[in-house]
Amino acid sequence: MNQQNRRPTRRRRRTRLSVLGIAVVTVFIAALLAIAVYFIFRFENPCQSQTSHVETTPAPTLAPTQTPPHPSPGPDATTTPEDNNNNETTNNDTTSASRFAAFSFFDPAREEEYYAFAARRPELTDDEVVWMVNVHLNQENFYDVIFTIPATDTMPLLVNPVWRLPDGFEPDNMVGVNNDDDNIVAIPEAVAAFRSLRSASRAAGFDLSITSGFRTAERQATLFERQQPVDTSRPMAVAKPHHSEHQTGRALDIWGPGSGLMDSQATSSADLSPVGTWVYANAHVHGFIIRYGYDVTHITGFIFEPWHITYVGIHIAQYMHDMGIRSLEEFVGRNPNATIANFANPAAR
Ligand SMILES: [Zn+2]
Repeated sequence: MNQQNRRPTRRRRRTRLSVLGIAVVTVFIAALLAIAVYFIFRFENPCQSQTSHVETTPAPTLAPTQTPPHPSPGPDATTTPEDNNNNETTNNDTTSASRFAAFSFFDPAREEEYYAFAARRPELTDDEVVWMVNVHLNQENFYDVIFTIPATDTMPLLVNPVWRLPDGFEPDNMVGVNNDDDNIVAIPEAVAAFRSLRSASRAAGFDLSITSGFRTAERQATLFERQQPVDTSRPMAVAKPHHSEHQTGRALDIWGPGSGLMDSQATSSADLSPVGTWVYANAHVHGFIIRYGYDVTHITGFIFEPWHITYVGIHIAQYMHDMGIRSLEEFVGRNPNATIANFANPAAR
């Protein structure tokens, strides 16, 4: 009886234990599944969020403004698409990279003009293309497209066949050039610079005098009419009214000793007289440039004028001399925001 009673009791206990074990294992597995599901969802959602983040954030581009400017404006500053591919800070999409963007004086707004001008003038370097387009020299003929100078109180002032002075422009407070009572007048800065140049010329055995300074637009119109007909595809001798540097009061014509304008027959610096050679070598020290050089007539639009000097300030004149920049067009094309004031500080250039 006891054994009979014991056997069913043991069987019931074993059965209870088995059921309990199955229940424990089931709960354990369920718990594992629950934990697994929890972790799957926990890590899946941030992944989806990350994916949508990538999709909504614009991919980095090779926009011109993101390309670091080249430290040197020299001809070796060109950048090829191959160079950009090697740049780890950019992505693989080089289709939007401009081949001109490496230049510090690159203007994104002029990019189409750079490409069009480079295609039309394949003999130019990319460097030349950019600075020439910057000052609107991408024209077939001089005077084809004309822009009015917006700020005439900025110096230096680029006045040429492309850039004209506003109607009625006349500088204030002009003074006599050769002496205080002179009818030939210019702005005070240019006169002070000329007198400095003249003192130095006297020390070198020469004596400079000026035959023309400020000139009105009306006077310039008379001079221009005498030159008709004018071929605007070639460098000229006389500017149209409103396009003459003489109207700025910053340009002076040097009188040669007994022979009209100084070195008026010269076609290159090799042809200059001793005084002309001296001016050519020393004008920049006093803030002047030889504005219409013999080797930049296709840029300036004017024939070689060794007698015509233009005041740009000693810092810009010295910089152009040191850098071998042969025209004011090139200087402004490379330094579109330069003024005499901000160029006095080399760190601010
Ligand atoms: Zn002149």
